[in-house]
Amino acid sequence: MNLAHLLLRQARQAPDRPAVFSGTQCVATHAEWAARSAGLAQRMREAGLVPGDRVLLFMHNHPRYLELLWAAWWAGLVVVPVNAKLHPKEVEWIVDDAQARWAFVTADVAPSALAGLERQVEIESAQADLLLAPARDALAVPVAERGPDDLAWLFYTSGTTGRPKGVMLTLRNLMTMGLGYFVDVDAVSAQDAIVYGAPMSHGAGLYAIPHLMAGARHVVPASRGVDPAELFDLGWQLGPLSTFAAPTIVKRLVDYAQQAGLGPERCAQAFKTIVYGGAPMYRADIERALRVMGPRFVQIYGQGETPMVGTALSRHHLADAGHPRHLERLASVGVAQTPVRIRVGDTNGRELAAGTVGEVLVKGDSVMAGYWRNPAATTAALRDGWLFTGDVGCLDADGFLTLKDRSKDLIISGGSNIYPREVEEVLLTAPGVAEVAVVGAPDPEWGEVVVAFVVPRPGDALSTDLLDRHCLARMARFKRPKRYVMVDTLPKNNYGKVLKTVLRERAEG
Ligand code: AMP
Repeated sequence: MNLAHLLLRQARQAPDRPAVFSGTQCVATHAEWAARSAGLAQRMREAGLVPGDRVLLFMHNHPRYLELLWAAWWAGLVVVPVNAKLHPKEVEWIVDDAQARWAFVTADVAPSALAGLERQVEIESAQADLLLAPARDALAVPVAERGPDDLAWLFYTSGTTGRPKGVMLTLRNLMTMGLGYFVDVDAVSAQDAIVYGAPMSHGAGLYAIPHLMAGARHVVPASRGVDPAELFDLGWQLGPLSTFAAPTIVKRLVDYAQQAGLGPERCAQAFKTIVYGGAPMYRADIERALRVMGPRFVQIYGQGETPMVGTALSRHHLADAGHPRHLERLASVGVAQTPVRIRVGDTNGRELAAGTVGEVLVKGDSVMAGYWRNPAATTAALRDGWLFTGDVGCLDADGFLTLKDRSKDLIISGGSNIYPREVEEVLLTAPGVAEVAVVGAPDPEWGEVVVAFVVPRPGDALSTDLLDRHCLARMARFKRPKRYVMVDTLPKNNYGKVLKTVLRERAEG
């Protein structure tokens, strides 16, 4: 088993079809992509890299990302994707832990050499051009023999608590994720195209796998980032496009569409499918997104340990407005994806009845092999084949999973549990609220109190009084925020997740 065969297959069947785009410009057909990946695979092999060796990609999104990924897999290597926003010191720690031999970097993220590497290649350099020069006969370059349990992707968790851990993902994990996309997320044809706005070091990059399986096109925006105007333009020129977007990015796309007065039909010409996930999507936000952009959304819930595969809330579920539990479903993350079983369990993993809140457990072929060189963490996370996700939620009788919050985000005030998400859902329905994040702050009387950080919509003057009345009318008294902090923006990481640790510190201060 080797993911390189997916590229070889397209290079044989559709060699001349445009495959990789930088902005609107085609930079590689399938044959050219395969030739460059095969060339690099060959050269890495000649330089002494052997199957199983780790190669780090510390880069912003770039069309060469795809060539590098498939070159590494062609040679049987394990890719270590690193978020471009990490500090070189953090990257050095990962290089050391993963015992990576080579790294490919973009000049903007790695100004100096990373310690401990045999070779660091800046991917727009003459050295990179030589390494990626097309192989003379790509189809004849041998693909490394790898088994389904061999590693392909060593993904370091964001490490909000302690050191990041290396999640070991195997070829079976990635194949399962790729094939599952077609059943649970979306059908893909060779005429389709995916655009990479979110970092390719994360799930967005993994979605290259199903799109290559289908022979679709891959588009990296010229800005290498997320600019709604640019993405819509690309969509109209090359699309309609599919993309993966964290909820904050969905929000930016929706804001843009609304401000530019684009109706759902015009949006449909730019975007075929927007897959969202990675952080909570509030009901008010998805309702607005559907209203403005039309039915082009699918939600997934997963984590690095079971990448992009957990649950899905399909286009059909999102559109099923006549269903008696439609509103609850909109706030859920959907049902188990085909390759996995989902269970809500107690601390020992014993299954809990529908409606009971507990830890979300996942079992199936997408679940990681364990944490790299960290048997203690592996034993804690994987028990009896079940992955203990650390997420808290409950299943309803139809199998829809609603996430509460990660256990560390739970607020306990006067002995009562308060899930921040519930309070956030309510606050987001108040007029004039653009974004909100709720955390607990220590309090001598209550243990903890609820603090809401609120981003007002531009031009809206929000009063604390109004927000308090809004909450009182809609939630139990004890759950409502005791304190409001108006802010211009919320602190977020590179994947668009709100950094609650930062907010907790601020609330405490
Ligand atoms: P990561 O491993 O960085 O992909 O982060 C995974 C975590 O993001 C999960 O464990 C959840 O806490 C959160 N997450 C992922 N998808 C969703 C979703 N659809 N809704 C809410 N939270 C999500």
